Amino acid sequence: MVSRTCWTGWARTPTRRWRTSSRKPAAKASVGRSVAPRPWGTAQSCLYLLHPRAVVTNASTLATPDGFACPCGKGHTAQEGCIGLGWHVQPNAGDGQRRLADGTYPVKAPLSPAPDYALGVFMVVPITALTVIQHPDPTIQADREKRAGQSGLPVFVAQE
Ligand SMILES: [Zn+2]
Repeated sequence: MVSRTCWTGWARTPTRRWRTSSRKPAAKASVGRSVAPRPWGTAQSCLYLLHPRAVVTNASTLATPDGFACPCGKGHTAQEGCIGLGWHVQPNAGDGQRRLADGTYPVKAPLSPAPDYALGVFMVVPITALTVIQHPDPTIQADREKRAGQSGLPVFVAQE
């Protein structure tokens, strides 16, 4: 199984696109047996989404901010370090709005006292299909589609 790890940049909303990505090394499938790497993963692979400010390490010391809600469906409190704290940031584009490079999004009351952030996983999702971006070289494209097909997942081709 191969896991993909995508880092989100703070310049994006918690649920939008990510700027850069890196791969986590494939887990060893067995001991003492040679297994060819499967760079595109399998039907059991997952995508891990990380953010450098996903974890509030001093959450237990925070007051519950106005408008706090747990989006996890688990009834977390703010002091449990719920991912819902990610929407409580200082506005920079007027009342209740934060501006990013490609738009604005609504934010809730900032945290108090000041939060201490750390890198963390904020979502794990199964990989249900692969999309290969069309390459102008047919040989390269065929290789990419072949490798993607080794995953056993549905493979789609898209124009960039
Ligand atoms: Zn929660």
